[in-house]
Amino acid sequence: MSVNIPLYKEISQSLANQNVILVAVSKIRTAEEIMELYHAGQRDFGENYVQELIEKYELLPKDIRWHFIGHLQSNKVKYIAPFVHLIHGVDSEKLVKEIEKQSIKNNRNIHCLLQVYIAQEKTKFGFDQTELEDFFKNKIGQYSHTQFDGFMGMATFTNNEKQIINEFDQLKKIFDQFYQSPLLPKPLSILSMGMSADYTIAIEAGSNMVRIGSLFFGARN
Ligand SMILES: *Cc1c(COP(=O)(O)O)cnc(C)c1O
Repeated sequence: MSVNIPLYKEISQSLANQNVILVAVSKIRTAEEIMELYHAGQRDFGENYVQELIEKYELLPKDIRWHFIGHLQSNKVKYIAPFVHLIHGVDSEKLVKEIEKQSIKNNRNIHCLLQVYIAQEKTKFGFDQTELEDFFKNKIGQYSHTQFDGFMGMATFTNNEKQIINEFDQLKKIFDQFYQSPLLPKPLSILSMGMSADYTIAIEAGSNMVRIGSLFFGARN
């Protein structure tokens, strides 16, 4: 399997022009495939599995910014805490607590995005509107070592473009509602939404970070 470098160059240039950060999703891909994109200039890579991320981190160049984009179990935060650049899928307060603990232990402010539940699917994780309100009003101030950069969301897996637009619009509204919380030392700045199939729709809706895998690497089996 080979990496589509011409398409990568075209898309990464276009995203850079729009000030949208591109996270290349490299789960299941080999170190060689990652290095092909690396040599084309890519530095932000996203992984879903802790063990795989650690192996790649140890093997690959140290100027790669590793994003954890999968569902993260609290008991595994410690393995990625020393080096992870951004944790996207923070979907529970239990996980926030552990990230706070590991931030202190590792003497660094671990950056994270709260995952917001927008899809009409039972399988997707995240905070809903009520939980977010409670978290921002009553909880967020307790976590002074965790750096909250923004939100992440995934639309329903569907061909119904209208529904996808609605869900991304909904998340943008939520972002606008919370980004300037008085309890935050600085405003939220990142809205991570959009993957290979829907990233253009997501950017339309206000995304400034997209997570793209299969467009560059080919379909996963
Ligand atoms: C796998 C994955 C992606 C990338 O999906 P593609 O369709 O390959 O672009 C993006 N975000 C998350 C959370 C993922 O798990």
